Parts: sequence; C-alpha cells; structure tokens
Amino acid sequence: MTELMSENTKKQSPELSKRYSLQKYVITILGLTIALIYLLFMGLFGSNILKHLISLITVNEYLLITLYVLLFIIIIDVITIPLSFYGGFILEHMYKLSNQKISGWVKDELKKFLISLPLIIVMVQIMYLFLRNFPDTWWIFVTIIWIFFSIIMAKLAPVLIFPLFYKSVPIENEDIKKGLESLSEGTGINIQGVYKINLSKNTKKANAALAGMGSTRRVLLGDTLLDFYSLAEIKSVFAHELGHHVYHHIWKMLVIGIITGGLGFAICHYVLSKMIVVFEYQCIHDIAAFPVICMVLAALGFILMPIQNAISRRFERESDKYAIEKTNDPEAFISTMDKLAEQNLADRIPNRLVEFLFYSHPPISKRIEMAKENTQALP
Ligand SMILES: [Zn+2]
Repeated sequence: MTELMSENTKKQSPELSKRYSLQKYVITILGLTIALIYLLFMGLFGSNILKHLISLITVNEYLLITLYVLLFIIIIDVITIPLSFYGGFILEHMYKLSNQKISGWVKDELKKFLISLPLIIVMVQIMYLFLRNFPDTWWIFVTIIWIFFSIIMAKLAPVLIFPLFYKSVPIENEDIKKGLESLSEGTGINIQGVYKINLSKNTKKANAALAGMGSTRRVLLGDTLLDFYSLAEIKSVFAHELGHHVYHHIWKMLVIGIITGGLGFAICHYVLSKMIVVFEYQCIHDIAAFPVICMVLAALGFILMPIQNAISRRFERESDKYAIEKTNDPEAFISTMDKLAEQNLADRIPNRLVEFLFYSHPPISKRIEMAKENTQALP
C-alpha cells in the first residue's frame, strides 16, 4: 500500500503522459483500422465462404446464424488479441499503471467474451427473425427491441455484470460516510447506494462512476481513490457523480444511444436493399450480408463519436460545476484534478483534434481552469 502511495504521488513528467496517451491513440486507431479491413474482407469475399462452409454442416436457419456469428466474432477476436494484450496489459505495466497479473487479464477477457457472445447472438437472431418476416419494416421492430435492451442493460449491469469483474462493498469509514451523506441529502441518492469498488486488483488508476437506474442507481468510488485522497477531495468526486444523477445524464445518454441505434438500423435497411443487388446476396435476410450491417453500424458510430463525445464533455462540465458549487470548495476540486492527472497519467493539454475525436471528459487543464474561474467568482 505504501509502495502504491509513493508511486501514485510521484510527480510525472508531461512528456511521459504525452507518450502514454499517444501510444493509446495509436492502438485505438490501429484497432479500428484492423476491424475495418476485416469487415471489408468479409463483405467482399469471406462472408460467402464462411456461410457456405457452415451450410455444409447445417441447413437450419437458426443454427446457421448462431455458428456464423460465433465464428465471425472468434476470427476478429483472434486477429485483435495481440493488440488488446499490448494495449490492455503490456502498455499499462510499462507505465507502472497496472496491478494485474497475466492470469487476471486472461480471465477478464474470457469473461467479457462469454458474457457478450450470447447477448450478441440473441440480438442478431432477433434481428434476422424480423428481417425474414418483415423485410420492409424490420428496422422499426429492431429499434423497439433495442430500446428495451438498452434500458434493461443500464438497469441490470451494476448488479449482474459489474460484480463479475469487481467486488463492491458499502463505505465503512465513518468520516467519509458522514461527509458524503451530508452532500447527498435531497438528491435521491442515499449512503446505502454508495459503494467502494476494488479497482486496485487491476489498476493503480483512480476512478468513480454513477451507474444503474431506479432501484439499482448507485455511486461507485474506487478504492484507489478512497484510500489515497483527502475527505475534501473524495467529496469533490462524489459531488461530481451526484451532478450526473441530478442532471439525469444516464437517461440522456441512453436516449442518445437509442436514437443512434434506430438511425443505424434505418440506414442498414437502406444500404442492405441496395447491396443485395450489387453483391448478389440471396435476399435481405441473407446472413452472408451480415458484414454490411456491421460496417454501417461501425461507420455511423465512428462518424457520430465526436458528437457523442462533445455531448459527454458538456455533461462532465455540468457535473464539475455542480460539484464545485455543492461543496463550495474549488481548491479541493483543483487538487483532486491534479492528483487524478498524476495518478492516471492523463495528458493535461491534449492536441485539439485528439480532444475533439476521443475525449469524453474535458482535458484536466480545462477542468482546473473552470474551477479557478469559480474560485475568483467566490466572494
Ligand atoms: Zn463524470
């Protein structure tokens, strides 16, 4: 613990965080490029071959789709494993940001694979069920299912999925409990809904989050934060998460996700109806055309990423402002930001284009600047 503390509080050079961030972006862009090449290859040649090979084993439509999606995902996962391992394990260790053992990394990746696989297969099966039966209006039905799926996932993820990766326990420290309780009064969040989550099993980085909906709504505070930050700093972070709750940011993000999904399915319908002629797919519900659907959704996601990030940065600014006003302690907010930047090796002043494309939060320099403006505004 003392070792972690000394490493966390050691002043990091800006060059180090710049280098770390740059490597992260290169990995992200490389990953996107590999995925794009894979989808293009599958769309042009691979998909028909894969479908043909599976149809030698079975002619049952449901089994065919299940096996197709299974292999489709396994192939891309195998291709990208070296990159995921480098980005998620080697790089983190190179910069002394990770506590994870290699067995832990493998276990977590396997868990992610085993959880996402059935969800994806069920979603694709539902989509093809509507594609087969309602070839003109399938995208409307799929959007409706997508709405339910998004809400259920947002509600259940903190109780069903998070515990598979991290343990969370109620806050025990009485001083922290009292401090947070006084802040949350009247917001609808009570101390029973505030948890300490054992991030330190994997990382040295600190983090916090608001998650869940209704009865599963909760604030999660990393042990990497609770164990090493002052009470005033912890209150700053907690108040920021309260801001997300008070301004309904989870709901708003969910609505944006639902609209994006619906738009994506509508565009898929348009592109698929054109593509069956160009690529001579058998029909709109030919599983061989699955890469086309993936490509449309991925392209739309990529195009909309800067807009979604801009909205997210706006929400984060709102929550920052809320935190400063609620705690009336801009100094604690500034020292929290300083500590977070050091501990998480954040690039304080990123390139404007990088910020525009990838930043879901305002850069630390801007968050501190905003707090300083608030300090001056205080009487
Ligand atoms: Zn936030």
